[in-house]
Amino acid sequence: MESYRREFIGNVSHELKTPIFSVQGFAETLLDGALDDESVNRTFLKKILHHANRLDNLARDLSTITKIETDELDMSNEAFDVAELFDAAIESVEIRAEEKGIMPRQRVAPDLPQIYGDFDRLRRVLVNLVDNAIKYNQDGGTVQLEAESQNDEVVIRVVDDGIGISPDHLPRLTERFYRVDKSRSRNQGGTGLGLAIVKHILAAHDRELHVESAPEEGSTFYFTLPTSPQPSLQPA
Ligand code: ADP
Repeated sequence: MESYRREFIGNVSHELKTPIFSVQGFAETLLDGALDDESVNRTFLKKILHHANRLDNLARDLSTITKIETDELDMSNEAFDVAELFDAAIESVEIRAEEKGIMPRQRVAPDLPQIYGDFDRLRRVLVNLVDNAIKYNQDGGTVQLEAESQNDEVVIRVVDDGIGISPDHLPRLTERFYRVDKSRSRNQGGTGLGLAIVKHILAAHDRELHVESAPEEGSTFYFTLPTSPQPSLQPA
């Protein structure tokens, strides 16, 4: 536990360093004269904003992961429609999707039963997965949220035709701070914590995250949810 804690804190400090150094560096350069140089001043300010946003993302994800790890059992167990969940997730990523010319689509099987779980946390799961499907994709790429019945459950998939992931990386994707391409993730504002958060939330629902992917073809992340209340979770 102690070595785990030390490693985690080490990773966090490492993640904080780059954006902090960058903000300091660009601010100093501006104060040293670049402020009056019309050809760079706005670019440097944009870079400061970008790194400040990264720090903000990191602070939020760290707070989420800490909360989830400490009160894992505090999940509500409400019934809702998958379409409602998909709408809420898509709404949260709308701006980033538009920036990349991507319009996430929904394919929900007709007459799907309601699913049970913690709506807000499952929205977070989908936001993280859809956000990745957008981030690790070409401009104008395809992102689809799918849901259909499978035995007594509903299977939910987030499918993209983006850059894909080679098989050797797949087993480690949900580890904290694990990234296939560090600079690509950071450029996109990634914290390396998104899939760790997804894994935790699904585990609290007694579920697992699965992934199928091929480089340059795309990825499918999927999991199932129950269509009846789960005794292991607290009632809504
Ligand atoms: P990040 O903040 O870096 O996106 P995540 O935990 O969400 O962190 O994902 C971990 C890594 O898994 C990413 O850095 C990326 O390399 C890879 N990844 C996740 N989703 C996808 C996807 N849909 N397509 C390709 N690579 C992905």
